Amino acid sequence: MPPRFKNNTKNVNEFGIIKEYFLRDSGDESVLRGVGDDCAVVLPPKGQSLVMSIDTHVAGCHFPENTDANLIASRALHCAVSDLAAMGAEPLWFTLALTIPSADQAWLKSFSEGLFLCAQHYGISLIGGDTTRGPLTISIQVHGAVPEKSTLLRSGASAGDQIFVTGTLGDGRAGLDVVLGLLEADEHNAGYFRKKYYQPQARVRSGLLLRYLASSCIDISDGLLADLGHICTASSLGARLDASRLPLSQELLATVSTRTALEWALTGGDDYQLCFTANKENAENLKTQARSRVLDVTWIGEMVEGKGIFDLKTGQDYGARQAGFSHF
Ligand code: ADP
Ligand code: MG
Repeated sequence: MPPRFKNNTKNVNEFGIIKEYFLRDSGDESVLRGVGDDCAVVLPPKGQSLVMSIDTHVAGCHFPENTDANLIASRALHCAVSDLAAMGAEPLWFTLALTIPSADQAWLKSFSEGLFLCAQHYGISLIGGDTTRGPLTISIQVHGAVPEKSTLLRSGASAGDQIFVTGTLGDGRAGLDVVLGLLEADEHNAGYFRKKYYQPQARVRSGLLLRYLASSCIDISDGLLADLGHICTASSLGARLDASRLPLSQELLATVSTRTALEWALTGGDDYQLCFTANKENAENLKTQARSRVLDVTWIGEMVEGKGIFDLKTGQDYGARQAGFSHF
């Protein structure tokens, strides 16, 4: 849609940008028409549900203004794909709404390189988008597929189900602090945290495995307590957590006190790990696979009747720290 208050009819420049930086043949046969028409046309996998989600990243809010363009792009796509992982979906396609203050060619080159590298990593194809001028904002809509009835929902947990998380927690929060210059770490650890922040690996493969093992699932974007809280609310249950079991990275433990590490694991955002529940039988199976390191998951608690999140050992009520991040 042309803007109302400016004579800004589409010019060569805008189409030039799209052609130069965003038109690429991914060789994906499910894309019947990609960038270039009014809509993309795709062929969804037979018998599967399509799942979709959109994420917006605003400069100065979701990433520091001076961030490298390729990191802005990769972070935005990693975070968006994480929502597909949380549903047990296979990533298929995405669209990109890009708002930029100016057509800076070097910036666009770096941005599109970061974007396509990340897209290749997940096997997800860019099929369209929108390009406008304005304050730097990136919106990415991802589409994925999951066999009908295997979709992982927040609402599927039952009382007695066991709670697990993938990977380690708290690293995303450390990453943000390192990026903002608020946390000092040695070179190796700083690099590790920076990577966790700018390139959080969406747990797609874990999500695919969990289709048949988990009863509910969510990705941890706003902190464990907040996101587990969403499973509790959606499943009308409470949870008991063994905080002493929370998986913390060596890098985190080497950089901050155990107390801070634990606090960040509970309430820090940006981890993009999965938090999920499984019935007792599947939970035993998961624990065995975790012990033999086939799966990178850790048992952290159980779902119970009632409301709220409490510590399994101390009885501590985590309710007050459950808020997570809210924009408003
Ligand atoms: P329309 O005016 O019909 O909305 P546009 O002129 O906005 O179409 O876009 C032209 C084509 O380029 C469309 O196929 C659109 O999906 C694609 N496109 C626009 N911006 C981007 C972008 N940043 N990344 C990928 N594709 C884009
Ligand atoms: Mg059109």
